[in-house]
This record gives sequence, structure tokens and C-alpha cells, in this order.
Amino acid sequence: MSALESALAAWRSALGEEHVVTEPEALAAAETATFATTQRIPAILRPASTAEVQACLRIAQEHRVPVYPVSTGRNWGYGSRVPPRDGSVLMELGRMNRILAHDEKLAYLTVEPGVTFRQAHAWLRTQGSRTFITSIGGSPDASMVGNALERGDGRGPHADIFQYVCALEVVLPTGERVETGLARFPGARAAPVFRWGVGPSLDGLFSQSSLGVVTRMTFWLARKQPYLREFFISVDEDAQLFERLDRLQELALDGTLRSSFFFWNDLKALSIAQQYPYAATSGRTPLPPVLLDQFREGFGRWAISGALHAPDVDLGAVLERRLAAALEGLPRPLRLSPPPVDGESPFQGVPTDINLSMTYWRKRTPRPDEPHPDRDRCGFIWCSVALPFTGEEAQRAVAIADRLPRMFGFEPNLALLAHSARCLYLVVALAFDRDKRGEDERALACYRALARELTTAGYYPTRLGLQSADDSLPTGDDSLALLRRLKQAVDPAGILAPGRYVPGIPGNDPE
Ligand SMILES: Cc1cc2nc3c(=O)[nH]c(=O)nc-3n(C[C@H](O)[C@H](O)[C@H](O)COP(=O)(O)OP(=O)(O)OC[C@H]3O[C@@H](n4cnc5c(N)ncnc54)[C@H](O)[C@@H]3O)c2cc1C
Repeated sequence: MSALESALAAWRSALGEEHVVTEPEALAAAETATFATTQRIPAILRPASTAEVQACLRIAQEHRVPVYPVSTGRNWGYGSRVPPRDGSVLMELGRMNRILAHDEKLAYLTVEPGVTFRQAHAWLRTQGSRTFITSIGGSPDASMVGNALERGDGRGPHADIFQYVCALEVVLPTGERVETGLARFPGARAAPVFRWGVGPSLDGLFSQSSLGVVTRMTFWLARKQPYLREFFISVDEDAQLFERLDRLQELALDGTLRSSFFFWNDLKALSIAQQYPYAATSGRTPLPPVLLDQFREGFGRWAISGALHAPDVDLGAVLERRLAAALEGLPRPLRLSPPPVDGESPFQGVPTDINLSMTYWRKRTPRPDEPHPDRDRCGFIWCSVALPFTGEEAQRAVAIADRLPRMFGFEPNLALLAHSARCLYLVVALAFDRDKRGEDERALACYRALARELTTAGYYPTRLGLQSADDSLPTGDDSLALLRRLKQAVDPAGILAPGRYVPGIPGNDPE
């Protein structure tokens, strides 16, 4: 028997036949992302407990078969469920979907990796909770743990999601189990409320990593606020955007803006509002300027949106005045939403799939009620980089991101996200149709050119997807050597997610 066959037999006896999937249709679906990939997946493992994850990894180690873990695998735009290395067995953790603990007063929720944003939101609602979990712009059926491990970004006061987690339970590639922070001490009562514990803090080692499989995580919840208003204003010129951006950064630093806020360009908004107008362009792409101008008349060039929130209405009125003063003088009005019914807003945890429409922008078939861009052959690639939060830096980076996609025949779909009072994310989306010949190759070439030019200008990625797996980012120190040593120490057989975030370990990839 080959190593793989022996491992499959052992996994079947550990998990049960039905949880070791080898049906060709299921494997083909798992091998499909929102851009071209070539990796083949020989099997999918579906463990239901930490003990089963341990058993799976011990078997993988014994037989030297690589395993790639995902929680719900909706990493759309970054490679979906497809492993970086050909021949990796996929480990899907969707069956581990229990909410393990909730404390309303201390505002935390402890979950397994299969728990989704939709599930957590519904559960907190049925508890009548006054707290909420940060929601994202991606699928409501994405997992909180998978998103946090990728250091995802969300809407609300806890936008930098990984900042608000602790007490990870992790299975190492050897099958050993570790817990982080105080959780490693039996009976430590502050484990879910204190991140650091004593000694080196390990949490970060397991995010954007290939050092362990996370099987439990505690999320700190935010409190719903009695005063919440979503705001929206648009500007017609780039110069207006960059100047206001500096003023809004000050409001983030002084505490007026404590929730995330965004700057969206016209093309991003358009690609959510509708699909590509093929009839109006006689099938030609990219979008002619005259059609974009028509949309701009109503929408503007950029929209600034976010939320104000406060523990009482009087304080809220002060925040409104401060925001209005910062945006005064713009030709278009500042609009504030009415208070949301029952406090239900995307800025207070309500998941929505509206943004997934942009993955169908260039498709000729309509967006279905239940979008699934892998299945529907939507072409979609993210490129996300970090910038210092100043108008000058934003202008410099946007100039690159606005130009490159056009050179390859794509519309620049751009957002700037206020990740903190100091840091902006510039997030570029390339949307295309995988059913159109040549688009897959052109989109990947565009992504590479864009990523290269942004890096050369000093704007480095916030996360890496499969589209960048073979790019090794230039480093000016010995950190890569350290990462490789850590990987070799923790995963001597190289069986866990080879190729993920720690590039090029000769001899560490299994045969
Ligand atoms: C239109 C659109 C909008 C989006 N908006 C956002 C957004 O606002 N914010 C955002 O952050 N993302 C966004 N995304 C990107 C992506 O969809 C989300 O980040 C999503 O949460 C990732 O999928 P998942 O949660 O199912 O994670 P998974 O696919 O399960 O995991 C992601 C990766 O983390 C690692 N991993 C997962 N689970 C484990 C584990 N238990 N142990 C060890 N490693 C693990 C693996 O490397 C895996 O590939 C968006 C995508 C689209 C298409």
C-alpha cells in the first residue's frame, strides 16, 4: 500500500468511513477557488473533536502525508479551500461547531472552529444578549475562527478581530495539544479574560501560520450601544477624499470615531449595486468612462461610511457635531441613518451577504440567492496592503491601485479601511469571469504586477492568499530563518499546511 492508502485506512478507522471523503465531485469542488489553481486534493477529513484532530495529525505524521486545515473554507478571493501544495489532504473542521461558553457580563464567547458568524449572531439573539460578535463583509457562513486566524477585518469597534481573541486550544502537527495564555493552567479562572498569561505569548504564532490546528478560541464581544447611527457622505474629487481622510484620522485618534469606517470608490459601489452592463457596452470590457460618469453623478467618486456609537444619546449628539464639523464644506450632504430597530445593524454584529454581489460583477449569469463564487466560477482575487493612516500615503498607494487593474483590462475596485487610528488597509478586488477564455491568466498576472508595485512602494500585504503562495517577500533581517527553524521544530515531518506562510523549507515538505 502507498503511504496515502495506509493513511486513509487509518483515518477511516479513526473517524468512520463517512468522514473520510473521496468522492470525485466533492474533491473537485474543494479543488476550485475563485482563480486558477492546479492542486489536487486526495481526500477530505471531517473530524468532530479535538481528540479526532489529534488522531488525524498523528496518522498524517506517521505516514508523512500533508494535511491542510480549514474551518469553513470560505476564504474567497484568497484561495478558498485549496491547499498551497499539491497532494495535501484537506481537513475541514465544520463538524466542530459548538458554542462552548458565553459570559454576558464579561462579554465573551468561546467557540469551536466550525461556528459561523451567522450561527453566533443568531445564538446571541436567542439569549437576549446585549453583546455582539463583529461581522465581516464576507460570507455569513464563514467561520469566526478561520477569519480571526487570517487576522480578518470586520465592522464595529472590534474591527481588528485578532486583537479581541484569547485562550486558543491548538493541536500541533505531532498531535500534542497546547493552550495559550492562562488557559494552559488548570482551573485558571481568568483564562477567557486575560490574553497574555505568563511567559512568552504564543497566540500570534498560530495566526497566519502553519504551526498548529486551532480547535477552540475565545472571542471578546462588544456591547450594543443605546446610540448608534450609520453615516454616509460622498465626495466628487480624489483631493477631497485625501484631505478629509486626515481629518477623520484625527477623530479616530481622539475617540470620536471608535467604530470602523471605510472609503469606497465608485467602481466598488457599482459592482455591488449591479452586474457589468454588457448590453450597454455591446459585450466589451472594461467599463467605458462614459458609463462610469453616469453612475458617478448619483454616487460620487468616493463614499465615506461608518458608524457613530455612544453609551447615551447626549454623548451621541456631541459625536455627531464633531463628525459634521470635520466634513463641513463638502458639496454633498452628510447623511445619518435613523436608529436601527432593536440595535440590529451590520455595525452591531448583523451578518449580511450583500458584498458578495461584487464577485458576480463580470458574470453573465445573475447572482443567485445563495451566492457561492467557487461553485459559480466567479473570478475574484483580493490584494490587501497596510498603509500609514495619512492622506498623503493613501494618495500614493491609490495612484498605483487605480492604474494597474486598468492596464490589464479590469476595473479598479478599491476600498480604504480604517483598521485603527494609525493604520489603513488598501483593499483591491479584481473581479472577472472564469468562463471567459484568458481571464484567469490575465487576472493572476495583474495581481502579481499590482502586488509587486505596491511592495516596491513600501506597502506590504496584510494577509497572503494562494495567489501569492510562491512569492517570497523580501526581508531585510533574519526573520525568515527564524520562522523556518520554528516550523522545523514544531513540524519536523512537514505535514501541516506545507507552503502556507513559511516559504521554502528544503527537505521539510513530505514526499
Ligand atoms: C466579497 C467578499 C467580502 C469579504 N469581506 C471580508 C471582510 O470584510 N473581512 C475579512 O476578514 N475577510 C473578508 N473576505 C475574505 C474571506 O471570505 C473571509 O476572511 C472569511 O472569513 C474566510 O473564510 P473562513 O472564515 O471560512 O476561513 P477558512 O477558509 O476556514 O480559513 C482561512 C485560512 O485560515 C487557516 N485556518 C482556518 N482554520 C484553521 C484552524 N482551525 N487551524 C489552523 N488554521 C486554520 C487556513 O490557512 C485557511 O485557509 C471577503 C471575501 C469576499 C469574497
